[in-house]
Amino acid sequence: MGDYVNRLMNQLVLKNPGEAEFHQAVREVAESVEMALARNPRYVDAKIFERIVEPERVVMFRVPWVDDNGQVQINRGFRVEMNSAIGPYKGGLRFHPTVYLGMLKFLAFEQVFKNALTTLPMGAGKGGADFEPKGRTDGEVMRFCQSFMTELARHIGQFTDVPAGDIGVGGREIGYLFGQYKRITNEFTGVLTGKGLEFGGSLIRPEATGYGTVYFAEEMAKTRGESLEGKTCLVSGAGNVAQYTIEKLLDLGAKPVTISDSGGIVYDKDGIDREKLAYVMDLKNNRRGRVMEYVQRYPSAEFKPADPSHHYNPLWAIPAEAAFPSATQNEINAQDAQNLIDNGCYIIGEGANMPTEPEGVERFVEAKLLYGPGKAANAGGVAVSGLEMSQNSERRSWTRETVDERLHRIMIDIHENCCSTAEEYDVPGNYVHGANIAGFRKIADAMLAQGIV
Ligand code: NAP
Repeated sequence: MGDYVNRLMNQLVLKNPGEAEFHQAVREVAESVEMALARNPRYVDAKIFERIVEPERVVMFRVPWVDDNGQVQINRGFRVEMNSAIGPYKGGLRFHPTVYLGMLKFLAFEQVFKNALTTLPMGAGKGGADFEPKGRTDGEVMRFCQSFMTELARHIGQFTDVPAGDIGVGGREIGYLFGQYKRITNEFTGVLTGKGLEFGGSLIRPEATGYGTVYFAEEMAKTRGESLEGKTCLVSGAGNVAQYTIEKLLDLGAKPVTISDSGGIVYDKDGIDREKLAYVMDLKNNRRGRVMEYVQRYPSAEFKPADPSHHYNPLWAIPAEAAFPSATQNEINAQDAQNLIDNGCYIIGEGANMPTEPEGVERFVEAKLLYGPGKAANAGGVAVSGLEMSQNSERRSWTRETVDERLHRIMIDIHENCCSTAEEYDVPGNYVHGANIAGFRKIADAMLAQGIV
């Protein structure tokens, strides 16, 4: 690690104590950015990166609501407005009990580079609350969303900040949030993306992150004259990203064999086909059940409960050619990465944000795997959110084919941009440096042009 990164990280850790995920995300990008700074002293003089790591604005607020038993509940809500150099703040909302400021700063920071890579005019933000939707009734989720939006509405707007979904925030929550925003402001605008089709949503938005991740992985495979067809694939998670990753893998003739949730992992050696995927979607999206129920329906599959005392995740020790982490951050540690490599896995498409710990990333890069980091590989979700904003502005809806084609094109372009940037910096095949530097340069040039703001 160079002097610049050391100095920057020392200051960042002092100034942002206890925010481990934020430190981790910045360190990884800083190592790439150092290479770009060496070639462009104007970025250094204008302290571009030092400004990027400081959010433009953070709001933190009380979210009081009443549960079905008449008890008062209090959660903490946040919106991190990270960077608006190339467009309005844009990024999802996460509802999960582990949410705190440092987690949202890491996500908002990643979003800066990801959104720049999409080629669309979107700045970056992220928000959410330490609310656990699991086990809550629809009425409780609605009251929570209404209370959350009552405060958030003051800070967002179609030209200011346009939130979307993330963990724990899907179509149901976006609907409740949109309803409350409209009621408060008396305006029907595209202030959120991921909306229902009846009220301004885009076709392919639910599918976009998963489909995009698979499109990106297919492009990586092509660089070695291969495709995903016939490949055994590991997928973690069972939510939005995991479901549509599996669907697109099936479209391309691959064989997905796993899903998981915080309760454990399912391994179906016969493959998760379309009928089984429909079962998973109903289980997760309608019945809001747990993946362990899968083996009751399909007894030839195996279920292993999650065991926090384990030093590795058995899902990543199953032999396969490709892996699509699609659950959460830091779900692949160094041992998991080694298990994947040892068992013949050589394509990694990160549907989740920062799912691999730094030591794991190092192993993937050293072993010269086709490793697509989240900020490039899963950018399809926010890209189609950008397309939803365009459709809202024109007050028209594009066809499924049009949106899917644009998504596919964007993923091909992101892949090309990562590869050409990596080559320009003499690290061919290194998608980490390629994505970080390509995203950084776009933001840096916009910031330079706009002066010290
Ligand atoms: P989701 O629909 O809520 O699904 C999340 C899945 O991951 C669930 O199966 C969940 O299991 C599991 N999970 C979450 N936290 C976990 C933890 N701490 N330990 C074990 N399992 C955990 O969320 P999603 O939208 O698919 O998001 C998944 C990942 O993709 C996140 O990293 C997110 O930031 C990233 N991402 C999402 C989008 C998007 O458009 N939605 C775009 C880009 C990136 P439980 O139900 O048991 O919690």
